[in-house]
Amino acid sequence: MERALLVTIKLKSERDNWRMQDLAVELEALAVTSGAQIVQSISYHGERPTANFFIGRGKAEEIAILCAEEDIDTVIFSRDLSGTQQRNLEEIIDKKTLDRTQLILDIFARHAKSPEGKMQVELAQLQYLLPRLVGKGVILSRLGGGIGTRGPGEQKLEVDRRRIRKRIEKLENDLKRLTVHRSLLRKKRKEKGIPAVALVGYTNAGKSSLLNAFTRANQVVSDALFTTLDSLSKALVLPNGEHIVISDTVGFLNNLPHHLIEAFKATLEEVVEADLLIHVLDAQHPRIYEHNQAVVSVLEELQIADKPRITALNKIDLLDDQTWLETIKRDFAPSVAISAKESQNLNLLLAEIEKRFIRNLACLHIQIPLTRMDLVDLFYREGRVREIQYLDQGIQVKVDLPKVLSQKILQDRQVEQL
Ligand code: GDP
Ligand code: MG
Repeated sequence: MERALLVTIKLKSERDNWRMQDLAVELEALAVTSGAQIVQSISYHGERPTANFFIGRGKAEEIAILCAEEDIDTVIFSRDLSGTQQRNLEEIIDKKTLDRTQLILDIFARHAKSPEGKMQVELAQLQYLLPRLVGKGVILSRLGGGIGTRGPGEQKLEVDRRRIRKRIEKLENDLKRLTVHRSLLRKKRKEKGIPAVALVGYTNAGKSSLLNAFTRANQVVSDALFTTLDSLSKALVLPNGEHIVISDTVGFLNNLPHHLIEAFKATLEEVVEADLLIHVLDAQHPRIYEHNQAVVSVLEELQIADKPRITALNKIDLLDDQTWLETIKRDFAPSVAISAKESQNLNLLLAEIEKRFIRNLACLHIQIPLTRMDLVDLFYREGRVREIQYLDQGIQVKVDLPKVLSQKILQDRQVEQL
C-alpha cells in the first residue's frame, strides 16, 4: 500500500462555505478509496495560489522534510495543480505527487468495469496528461535538465505527444462503436429478469460498509452464477426469495471537475442501468442537505433523477437527537434509518427493497418430466422452491420465479401447469 501524505488547501480568497475540516475529510475519503494508506494529513491556509508551487515554497520545503521523516511514497493535494506547479513541487519534495483530478481518475480507473468504462477513464487520463507535456517537461528534468539536454528531450516529448494523440483518437473511435454493443448487453440482463440495485451517495456516506453489511447478514448467491460480478457487486436473496444484484459505486463528490463528467458517467453504468437506487446519506453529518443536493444534481446530469429511489439514513448509531432523525426521515422520504456498521435495521431496508420488486416474481405450480433436472437446477438457482415432490409421473414443483423467466418456462412443451 502506498504511504500517503495528504495536503488540504483552503484559500482565504475563496468565499465558499466549505470548512477546512470538511475538505480534509473529503480528501481522506478519496485517498482511502484509491487504496492509499494515510500516514499524515496536513492543511494549508493561503491568500491565493502561487504560480510556481500553488502553496508557498516554505510549505513545500516543510512537506519535503516530512516526507523524508515519515517515508512517504505519495503526496496528495486537495486541489488541481498546473503542470508547472506539479513539476516544481516534485522537484523539491522528490516524491510522486497527485492532484485532485489525478486522484479522482485513479478511483474511476478502479471502479470502471466495462470495456467502455475503462476506455472513458483512459481517455480522460490522457486528455489530462497531454497539455501537461509541454516545454521542459517532466521527462527533460528527469534527464538531468539544464544545458545540453534540450534537443533529445524535446524530441522524446514530441514522440510521446504524438503517441498520446494517436491513442486518444483510437479510444474516441472505439467508444463510438461500443455504444451499440452495450445496448445489446443491457437487453441480455433484462431478459434474465434479475433486478439490479445500485448504491449511490456522497463519498464517505457508508456505501461500501452497507454492501458489506448486506453480505454478512444475507445468504449470498454463489458468485459463479453471475459471471459478470466482481468485488463491487453482490448477488443477494431477499426474504421473499427474489434474487437481486446490488452494486457499490464510486462516491459522488462536491465540485466534480467538469472535465471528468464523461469518465464519471462511464463508471456509473450500474447506476444508469439499475432498477432501484439506494441513496446512502450520512444522517449525522451537519451537511446532509448539501450532500443530498450534490447527489441529486449528479442523478439529474445522468437523466435518472426519477428512477425509483430509497434513502438509507446511515450512521444512526452516532445520532442521539431523535427529533432531528424524524425531521430528515420526513424530508428524505421514502427513507429507512440504519447503521451499516452496527447492522441496525438492515431488515427494514431489505423489506423496503422487497416492496419494489414483489411484482417481479410469479409463482408457478407445475409438473415436469423426471428427465428435466436442468429445470430443477434452474429453479433453485434463479428462484425460490416452495415445494418439490418427486413422483412416478414426474416432478411437481411450486416455485417463485422472476416473471420473465416464468413465462419462458411455461412455453416449454414438457412443462405442464397444475
Ligand atoms: P463510502 O465512501 O460511501 O463507501 O463509505 P464507507 O463505507 O467507506 O464508510 C466511510 C466511513 O464511515 C468508514 O470509516 C466507515 O467505518 C464509517 N461508517 C460507515 N457506516 C457507518 C455506520 O453505520 N456507523 C458509523 N459509526 N460509521 C459508519
Ligand atoms: Mg466506498
